[in-house]
Amino acid sequence: MTNSFKSISQFRQDFPILKQDVNGKPLVYLGNGATTQKPQIVIDTLREYYEQDNANVHRGVHTLSARATDAYEGARTKVKNFINAASEKEIIFTRGTTDSINLVASSYGHANIGQGDEILVTAMEHHSNIVPWQMLCQRTGATLKVIPINQRGELLFDEFKQLISERTKLLAIVHVSNALGTINPIEEMITIAHQNGVPVLVDGAQAIAHISVDVQKLDIDFYAFSGHKMFGPTGIGVLYGKQALLDAMPPYQGGGDMISVVSFSGTTYNDLPYKFEAGTPNIAGVIGLGAAIDYLSAIGLDNIAAYEHHLLDVLTKQAQNIDGLRIIGQAEHKTSILSFLIDGAHAADIGELLDQQGIAIRAGHHCAMPVMEFFHINASARASLAFYNNEEDISRFISALNSSLALLR
Ligand code: PLP
Repeated sequence: MTNSFKSISQFRQDFPILKQDVNGKPLVYLGNGATTQKPQIVIDTLREYYEQDNANVHRGVHTLSARATDAYEGARTKVKNFINAASEKEIIFTRGTTDSINLVASSYGHANIGQGDEILVTAMEHHSNIVPWQMLCQRTGATLKVIPINQRGELLFDEFKQLISERTKLLAIVHVSNALGTINPIEEMITIAHQNGVPVLVDGAQAIAHISVDVQKLDIDFYAFSGHKMFGPTGIGVLYGKQALLDAMPPYQGGGDMISVVSFSGTTYNDLPYKFEAGTPNIAGVIGLGAAIDYLSAIGLDNIAAYEHHLLDVLTKQAQNIDGLRIIGQAEHKTSILSFLIDGAHAADIGELLDQQGIAIRAGHHCAMPVMEFFHINASARASLAFYNNEEDISRFISALNSSLALLR
């Protein structure tokens, strides 16, 4: 391990939860695809907000409300800078990736997609980027089309080019697959989609903490992500949307904050981004997300990506030596996810036996049942890495896996 890699794994010290024993063994947390742990600075920021500044935003004339509003809007600027959006107006706070995608399906979808139109997704989507489109199709008579994948878990690019047509009204693609780890070639896909006049929504839930994202450079129309997968709080997320698109979209939910004037003779709506933020928002969550972004930016996404790539290499090589282990998802370009099955062992049993040795992984269908169907499996075990993992975690995982298999086989 090089010195710079070593210094990245030192950030582990910032995560109090990682310092505990679970079932009598030091915790090895490899459930980062499901949710990430929180550094002390995020925990402190949430506590300080409730201890010192708690008030509603955008409405109070008093000092606490001004402080809460400044911190809330300050976090919006941090998000804007983090993904290089052109304006704060393009940053909508939501409950998470799922909520962001539902916002687009509901608002953009109903205004722009109808009978005979097509929405294009990939075969490796999370349910969050399938079901909202299926619901929209049911209501409008549009059709959902699916770009197939190969046995390595990569998109069939030629099929994508065949499927996109004048009927396509939206391309909705996952940036990084949570079930396979595949990084999709979104830049090339966006170029082709735009050549066909098709806007693109990217589900960035698994990418945002692992790959640096520049929405302007990539020319992304909508980008959705969750705070809890990037070391921030749960219940907070972001929808980035190009201002022109958001401006033209009708509101998603009605209520306080999203209006300009309300009267029984008619209501006018607020400007962006507030038009899409009805009701009291998750103020603490937003401010906590801002702290997580500061923290991540200080380490540097490119440093994180290089280190995690190294860790995934080590993990993959060691896992491949285990007799009967089959990796689900062997794309050329992957982030830090190892999805696998072992002959003669059920994924859930592997998960439980590892837990008894203090190792947390995810076992199941990963909310990606169509991916499971494609590989003719019901579930897989998944170890997913973050920058606070290290080679010691990998050795513990591999030796615990070997001892579990001795019991299972
Ligand atoms: N998309 C992907 C690729 C995911 O991995 C997840 C969560 O696992 C989601 C969407 C949904 O995220 P959330 O549950 O935070 O809304």
